[in-house]
Amino acid sequence: MTTTAAAPAPNFIRQIIAEDLKANKNDGRVVTRFPPEPNGYLHIGHAKSICLNFTLAAENRGVCHLRFDDTNPTKEEVEYVESIKADVRWLGFDWGDKLFFASDYFAQLYRYAVQLIKNGKAYVCSLTPEEIRQYRGTLTEPGRDSPYRNRPVAENLDLFARMRAGEFPDGAHVLRAGIDMASPNLNMRDPVLYRILKASHHRTGDNWCIYPMYDYAHPLSDAIEGITHSICTLEFEDHRPLYDWILDQLPVPSHPQQIEFARLNLSYTVMSKRKLLKLVNEGLVSGWDDPRMPTIAGMRRRGYTPAAIRNFCERIGVGRRDNTVDLALLEYCVREDLNKHAPRVMAVLRPLKVVIENYPEELVEELDAVNNPEDPNMGTRRVPFSRVLYIEREDFLEDPPKKFYRLAPGREVRLRYAYFIKCVGVVKDEATGEVVELRCTYDPETRGGYAPDGRQVKATLHWVSAAQAGPAEVRLYDRLFTKPNPDEDKDADFLSFVNPNSLETLTSCRLEPGLAGAGPAGLYQFERQGYFCVDTKDSAPSAPVFNRTVTLKDPWAKLMQAAPK
Ligand code: ATP
Ligand code: MG
Repeated sequence: MTTTAAAPAPNFIRQIIAEDLKANKNDGRVVTRFPPEPNGYLHIGHAKSICLNFTLAAENRGVCHLRFDDTNPTKEEVEYVESIKADVRWLGFDWGDKLFFASDYFAQLYRYAVQLIKNGKAYVCSLTPEEIRQYRGTLTEPGRDSPYRNRPVAENLDLFARMRAGEFPDGAHVLRAGIDMASPNLNMRDPVLYRILKASHHRTGDNWCIYPMYDYAHPLSDAIEGITHSICTLEFEDHRPLYDWILDQLPVPSHPQQIEFARLNLSYTVMSKRKLLKLVNEGLVSGWDDPRMPTIAGMRRRGYTPAAIRNFCERIGVGRRDNTVDLALLEYCVREDLNKHAPRVMAVLRPLKVVIENYPEELVEELDAVNNPEDPNMGTRRVPFSRVLYIEREDFLEDPPKKFYRLAPGREVRLRYAYFIKCVGVVKDEATGEVVELRCTYDPETRGGYAPDGRQVKATLHWVSAAQAGPAEVRLYDRLFTKPNPDEDKDADFLSFVNPNSLETLTSCRLEPGLAGAGPAGLYQFERQGYFCVDTKDSAPSAPVFNRTVTLKDPWAKLMQAAPK
């Protein structure tokens, strides 16, 4: 794996592992895992967990397992399994032959459950789900014992076997751990271990009609695989006593250590798969891989690079306090990486026609343009120049205010890599008064962009030659939400904060020739505009579509600074 990631910074998990290794705990092995539930596409929060788990393993000559936590057949699909694998690989990580599914352990988990029953540690409870909730109590009130808590072992074994055999409808019984209904920790109040669910599973088909709960399947899957450090997010801290309890009751091959860290929250973003699915289902985005989505698939399509995302994950660090990271930091990391690798090209997004009156009709010159001033090895290319060009509409104002240094009547500017031109006339649409064409002259002495007499111009514009330029659609993206925290208002649906202007589609863009499909992964810097990439889904060879990956500078940062405190 090639990586440009920042040097690993110390964090509390790295420290725990270092100490464990020093003490030769787990015989010096480090085995981590990334355990996604295949009920949606991975998002940038998952990327943090993936980077953390795979990097910790790699740093310590350990391994990281990819394990699908597929215990909930009604929400899980093969499409998600495949997308998750593709995303982890794309991020640059390799699980080798360590691909596992919790469903592979269903038979073993069942045997463990039987053992719990035999040891008097689990019982079949026949309360309804609603009654179970009522009996559980609250944070301030202890729970009450289920009337089924003292069922004889033989009866529990019989009922559990019949649950498994499909004799009962969904919800008729559950298997619960017998722990402590008075525990201050709600997770310890006889949690449900198994439920009846007559649903087909994407891997085990109809073999099972009872399915283990996450809190039961997870520690056992970790133990079966010999995970040493089971790293999860802070909301599982209260589940740790249950994690340990389950492993303490059973003759498992190992007892992994659960360690919690603060999840990643990102401004102007929601990160729960349930909510992302809602955006997809409500048609507010075009799919899980819509370039505005915080999913890995969306970011990939938008032109974010694995190196940028890994770098971001290293930079935000790993702590134990919840916080929200500014989306601008992620964009910064993307810019930083693209700046090194993306070739510069010229593209005019909102074209305004320019005719150079004193330039010969038939002449086409090939001018040298630099591919990346940051990296001379990327060389130069030739761009055609001719009498009819396009420049950016916003680079001309008929009546320029102070500090507008670009083109205006009577004013001279530089065309990048080409010549100085001067605006000598304006053609307008008679009906609307809109400027539709500029008449200019050029100074042949300024070829390459410098005047031999030393005269200066205040602006350098990008341009394309009309006859040779190719057409393109360009999609400009803004933040998906209008609020830094779309979840913060408990009385409002997060969907009401979707930014109605998060996508702007420009259909009459003009690109310098030879662009579509060229460049590494179709990534470019459009000079003065930002970074753009070929949309792999909607592009056709004759009709390329480009996504704006990120602007050159963060316009929001400026707005924020300008805003009254
Ligand atoms: P979501 O809430 O988005 O549905 P999840 O936790 O249910 O996420 P899982 O598939 O269970 O999704 O997550 C797999 C792993 O990724 C877990 O170990 C989880 O702790 C971790 N993870 C999920 N979201 C984040 C996040 N925002 N930051 C860091 N790690 C995360
Ligand atoms: Mg989860």
